[in-house]
Amino acid sequence: MARIAFIGLGNMGGPMAANLVKAGHEVLGFDLAAPLLKVAEASGVKPASHASQAVKKAEIVITMLPQGKHVLTAWTDILQSAAPATLVIDCSTIDVESSRKAHEMAKAASCLSLDAPVSGGTGGASAGTLTFMAGGSEEAFAKAAPILEAMGKKIVHCGEAGAGQAAKICNNMILGISMVGVCEAFVLAEKLGLSHEALFDVASTSSGQCWSINTYCPVPGPVPTSPANNDYKPGFAAALMLKDLRLSQEAALASGASTPLGAEAAQLYALFEKLGNGGRDFSAIIELFREKT
Ligand code: NAD
Repeated sequence: MARIAFIGLGNMGGPMAANLVKAGHEVLGFDLAAPLLKVAEASGVKPASHASQAVKKAEIVITMLPQGKHVLTAWTDILQSAAPATLVIDCSTIDVESSRKAHEMAKAASCLSLDAPVSGGTGGASAGTLTFMAGGSEEAFAKAAPILEAMGKKIVHCGEAGAGQAAKICNNMILGISMVGVCEAFVLAEKLGLSHEALFDVASTSSGQCWSINTYCPVPGPVPTSPANNDYKPGFAAALMLKDLRLSQEAALASGASTPLGAEAAQLYALFEKLGNGGRDFSAIIELFREKT
């Protein structure tokens, strides 16, 4: 069993750290928000007074933070205190450029590093069923895999530094675009007098099938577990979808990729958030198209 420092005990990090404790690891936790340390302590995490205190005693360090700037700040502190050969894993969703920079900082400090963003949301974090998309060396991935297995059900080594972040934002760009497409189709069906159930029965078994319709249908009824049946409570909040779409557009600009539908989806989610919907599930964007038509 490993001694692990966990930095960032928020909505995702808190339950992920708790699952590491459940798997028998010794977990030292730190978050800038003191109340979260109390919550983590109740699940068996040992609270640290600052990041360096947690890191000094750890073989593995995990960060789960909001954005690239937070990760770079935290890794600067962490790498000053970490012993050489410590493995530092960032599970946050951040821009590819900051992720690659963090890997370079780790290399300069003679530490191993991995970017390992997740999909599965807070439900997956609590249930230990997250999917991890990892970027980094074979050595770092081999050392990280048994640890990540305590928090997830699928772990994919996507390539070298930053490849995990690249996979995450490409996947979520597909999701944002496909959700907009499915919502548009349901609104068109309403205008044409076609029932939700009829469109679902056809599209979910025909060439229109995709996760956004088959598993996460944005109208109530056809998929009883989708947030549409629960007043669009997230699930996956529209603000987080907007964050990921913006990351995809930053990456597209930096790499010269053409992503016109990704850009359009980002604009639609920005409008949806501006109208006060950032905390609702991202499938609630269907209401935007009903208003427009
Ligand atoms: P959150 O805001 O609940 O938690 C982030 C925590 O980091 C906060 O508690 C904050 O106090 C702490 N923090 C910030 N800077 C710090 C520092 N320097 N040292 C210590 N603690 C610090 O966010 P979250 O929902 O847990 O998301 C974390 C990451 O996971 C984000 O990058 C997000 O995009 C990604 N993610 C979230 C979800 C989701 O459904 N919430 C799903 C997939 C991925």
